[in-house]
Amino acid sequence: METAIKILMVEDLPSDAELVKHEIARSGIQFIDYKVETKDDYINALQEYKPDIILSDYSLPTFDGMQALLLGKELAPTIPFILVTGTLNEETAVEVMKAGADDYVIKEHITRIGTAIKTAIEKKEIIRLKKEADEKLKILSMAIDQNTASIIITDINGTIEYVNPKFTMLTGYSPEEVIGKNPSILKSGKTSKNEYKKLWKIISSGGSWSGEFQNLNKKGEIYFESATISPITSENGTITHFLAVKEDITARKDAEKKIKTLKEAIEQSPTSIIITDAKGKIEFVNNKFTSLIQYTLEEVQGKNPRIFNPGHIDQAAYKVMWENLKSGNIWQGEFKNRKKDGPLFWENVIISPLLEDNGTISNYILLSEDITEKKKMLDDLILAKENAEKSEKRYHSLFENMIEGFAYCKMIYKDGIPIDFVYLEVNNAFETLTGLKNVTGKKVTEVIPGIAQSDQLLFQIYGRVALSGKPERFEMFVESLNDWYSLSVYCPQKEYFIAVFDVITERKNTEKALILAKEKAEESDRLKTAFLHNISHEIRTPLNAIIGFSTLLVNAQLPIDKRMEFLNLINTSNDQLLSVISGIIALSTLDAGQEKIIEKETDINEMLFNVYEQFNISQIKPEVTLSYIPALPDELALVITDPVKLMQILVNLIENALKFTKKGKVRFGYTLTSNQLKFFVEDTGIGIPIEMHEFIFERFRQVDSSATRKFGGTGLGLALSKGYVELLGGQIGLRSELGKGSEFTFTIPYKPVFKTEIAAQKGQPSLKITFPPGKNILVVEDDINSFILLNTLLTNANLNVFRAENGEVAVKICTGDSPPDLVLMDIRMAVMDGIEATKRIKDFNPNLTVVAVTAFASESDKKNILKSGCDDYIVKPINQKELFEKLYKYLMK
Ligand code: ADP
Repeated sequence: METAIKILMVEDLPSDAELVKHEIARSGIQFIDYKVETKDDYINALQEYKPDIILSDYSLPTFDGMQALLLGKELAPTIPFILVTGTLNEETAVEVMKAGADDYVIKEHITRIGTAIKTAIEKKEIIRLKKEADEKLKILSMAIDQNTASIIITDINGTIEYVNPKFTMLTGYSPEEVIGKNPSILKSGKTSKNEYKKLWKIISSGGSWSGEFQNLNKKGEIYFESATISPITSENGTITHFLAVKEDITARKDAEKKIKTLKEAIEQSPTSIIITDAKGKIEFVNNKFTSLIQYTLEEVQGKNPRIFNPGHIDQAAYKVMWENLKSGNIWQGEFKNRKKDGPLFWENVIISPLLEDNGTISNYILLSEDITEKKKMLDDLILAKENAEKSEKRYHSLFENMIEGFAYCKMIYKDGIPIDFVYLEVNNAFETLTGLKNVTGKKVTEVIPGIAQSDQLLFQIYGRVALSGKPERFEMFVESLNDWYSLSVYCPQKEYFIAVFDVITERKNTEKALILAKEKAEESDRLKTAFLHNISHEIRTPLNAIIGFSTLLVNAQLPIDKRMEFLNLINTSNDQLLSVISGIIALSTLDAGQEKIIEKETDINEMLFNVYEQFNISQIKPEVTLSYIPALPDELALVITDPVKLMQILVNLIENALKFTKKGKVRFGYTLTSNQLKFFVEDTGIGIPIEMHEFIFERFRQVDSSATRKFGGTGLGLALSKGYVELLGGQIGLRSELGKGSEFTFTIPYKPVFKTEIAAQKGQPSLKITFPPGKNILVVEDDINSFILLNTLLTNANLNVFRAENGEVAVKICTGDSPPDLVLMDIRMAVMDGIEATKRIKDFNPNLTVVAVTAFASESDKKNILKSGCDDYIVKPINQKELFEKLYKYLMK
């Protein structure tokens, strides 16, 4: 031993102590010693002196060796304890040894003391060293067990001997599942075989390998780990084990991947990105930035982004921006910046401050987008919108003010056939032109029921345009609207159509009239040609006769009878020539509006008789009988008319009837219908074909206009007759059948004239008047004699007479089921007078004619009568002529 050991001696006998010390020194141990006798000193020495070994006697005055041992164990358990006793028997020694003493030396054999001390100290040293080693091992194994790294220890062959809990946590395999197996159970196949070979080469030659694995955990999921594998060698340097210390780097890998992705995203972002430090100095720009503004990262690094701004930014706005950013807010705005090569451009910029955990700003991120195009587009759009609005306004005003009708409609089809359409929009002109109101949103079949049937063609065209998209333009008579339309139809989108239209009925009518006029003119031209032909024929024939026979008359030898015959022929020809010429002249006068009517009192019965006489005498056709039928009695046949024209019409018609009737009858006459006289001339002659009926009254018209025609004539007679009839205020008509005969009729107004005659009976003046049958007269008269007189007069004139005794009865009759045609109202009557009765009758039926019959004739009476509603009045005593004239006036109107 190099240093002196410290010996604590528990001994009451100094001689024994000296003996022991002597013996220790003799054994070559260098030592110092300290001797105690009492328990307290002993405890003190243990704590203060800190001996390397305790040598204790057994028997002591105040305590014994056993107590010393136990105290020593308690207070200094590592200090070896040797019992040195003389009297001790073996049993006591064994007991002390059992209690934990390291050795015992009997004083009689004190020479053993040196060896005993050495052995005890050595033994204690070994125990201490072992304990130390155990402690260390424990710490190490704890370090391994509790390591945050995953640890695997394999034997030299790579067979797993140990895995720590972290390994289990990371891989999911428990120690039992992996011990005895190879770490290759973790292989994912993603690490190359070469890598493993390299690894083995390094570690088996004593080196240590570091690298990364992509392994599979128990669940089969990939995880990343970084590993360091080193060999464990024994004291002699041979490799006994391998130690793998691994760390799960999946999270790190993920983070790296994320960062990589983010970096790529930033690099490839279509948005220009600048990252500055807290002072606004550029640290990073992405590719888009460079391609946009044309500065590279190297050129702008460390500079302020303000360098791109040529001073367009408003200073106040700039201040606001910085205030916002510094207080950690995001700022957004627009900058007008300049590119490296000069041009200015607009940027929309978002700047976000990046905050540290403690809230301080570490960076700014500027995201910017070139909005020059967008701005331009926006400007363009605004302009376009304004233009569109202007144009829309213009078109709308055009649409509303256009004269043509406009309708925008959606066609409805069923099985591909157009069956209806809906009005989507129409203009004002639509309503004015069609007369249809509030049609928007309605179906046409609602607006014009029946149109689908009446105007199928219109539906077809609309349907066709809306499907084919090909516009069509046409003119059509729309039955349901009873007008001509000119239409242009377009298709703005499939199944929709726009109709632009105008009503052209007037134009069409004018066109028609023009066409008709043209046809007429052409016809007239033809007719004139025919006329010239005719007229020359008609004039030439008599002229020839006149010239021919006149020449013959020059011959003085001509016998007198021949001379007479020729003179007759010349006269006849003269007449014919005259008639042609006078016909033409008459028509010309008519055309010129110079033909005037000269009305006279005319006895039409007499006229018929004279005409009959004239023809009957002169007619040369024995096989034709001529007759006439007057409808009115002579006293009613006196009328006001132009007798010359009337006669001429009749003569013309009868002449024709006789001319075109070879055999049979010719009848003529007239009838009275309400207030018209209707004349007729009928024959059983050749008749007129139906297609000629509408033309035959035109001048120069003849059924047979050929040169070889059988009948003479100019074709002027009927035209002249028609002109005269119309001049007289009537109409001419024709009914005729080819081969059976013809009937020409014409009307003139019936304006009778009444003449008094002296009646044969009792020398009383009386009238011979007959009214058409069926006329009812109510005589309101309270005086029976007055009634009898009126009744006689009226009944004689073919009138039906009823009586009312007073006004009240009259009112009853007149307001009943069958009122009379006329009322003759006495004025002064009992019960109800004529004035009151007339008022009531007129209130109920203002059209019923009431003629007052009154004895009063003062002007105020007349006024009162007319005021009450009477149409007229007759003064008593009754003048018959006046009575019948008034009756005629009111009954025959
Ligand atoms: P015109 O007898 O001189 O030819 P009108 O004007 O009187 O001329 O008659 C025109 C034509 O009408 C006649 O040419 C004849 O063809 C036809 N017509 C007129 N009256 C008769 C009639 N009563 N029967 C058959 N045809 C008639």
